[in-house]
Amino acid sequence: MSLLEKFERYPLTFGATAIEHLPRLSEALGGKVEVYAKREDCNSGLAMGGNKLRKLEYIVPDAIASGADTLVSIGGVQSNHTRMVAATAAKIGMKCVVIQESWVPHHDAVYDRVGNILMTRLMGADSRLVHEGFDIGIRKSWEDAIRSVEEAGGKPYAIPAGASVHKYGALGYVGFAEEVAAQEAELGFTFDYIVVCVVTGSTQGGMIVGFAAQDRADRVIGIDASCIPDQTRMQVRGIVDKTADLVGLGRAVREDEIVINPDYAYPAYGVPSEETNAAIRLAARTEAMITDPVYEGKSMQGMIDLVKKGFFPDGSKVLYAHLGGAPALNGYSYYYREG
Ligand SMILES: *Cc1c(COP(=O)(O)O)cnc(C)c1O
Repeated sequence: MSLLEKFERYPLTFGATAIEHLPRLSEALGGKVEVYAKREDCNSGLAMGGNKLRKLEYIVPDAIASGADTLVSIGGVQSNHTRMVAATAAKIGMKCVVIQESWVPHHDAVYDRVGNILMTRLMGADSRLVHEGFDIGIRKSWEDAIRSVEEAGGKPYAIPAGASVHKYGALGYVGFAEEVAAQEAELGFTFDYIVVCVVTGSTQGGMIVGFAAQDRADRVIGIDASCIPDQTRMQVRGIVDKTADLVGLGRAVREDEIVINPDYAYPAYGVPSEETNAAIRLAARTEAMITDPVYEGKSMQGMIDLVKKGFFPDGSKVLYAHLGGAPALNGYSYYYREG
């Protein structure tokens, strides 16, 4: 039985996402581990999709029920999340205000004109650039935005960064775990590990709760891309506890079931290392699978390094959760001017 039966879901995605075998990448990594990807990046027709839509499906019913007319959220300048909130608002016929902060010490000439923020503006969101540094918590600029909607006579519905500390923010990825189990039954095998990027925490947090119900949460390997791993771990812990309670998991999630590897987030959130860029190129050249310098490039780097180090026993089947994010690449064009 699904842990999610009692929750309302507003469909924003196409349904179950594809699981794709990556034979050329597996071979390039030595052929001892079979790598697959679950394509959350291709999950919807809404503005190029991504993991935030799976989360927002469980938030929209609450937003509609609240009588709100404006979704308000926050992210970096090249935030995938604010793009997805803008898309959701357009799709359900609400207005949208998004605060875009200078979270990333990166200065490509068109960084604030292309990719995510371009699409956000196209979809009619009121996108406000604010000069504040990176944080995964609740911000004053966000509270100011909520107040500004109220002062203009609107009714805001607040969605925190990454939709993560929202009470329903992790439900979508509880569903991911159930979806994987159903797909495994069809495939006729099970995955030994799931690799996932973690920053604001509700993607991995939801997966942990969902896979805890299948007693394999410790096989979800979070690759930190926040570069503030202690804060990220605390946030995931909190999300896991609240979500386990909310869905009635029926037991506490142990510390050893929360696995976050901090080794690949350097040099900073939103800034790729040489190794990140090498990972992005390898995935692109072996599988035409496009990953980005902020999130998926780092989890790709982490997975590649862990395979090479022998972290996964020979014969393991590893499922890489591709969470989206490719639009941000446009803001980093100078790095990749020669490929
Ligand atoms: C938001 C995002 C993540 C991180 O997910 P969290 O739930 O914030 O931890 C990873 N990859 C992409 C592409 C994202 O947009």
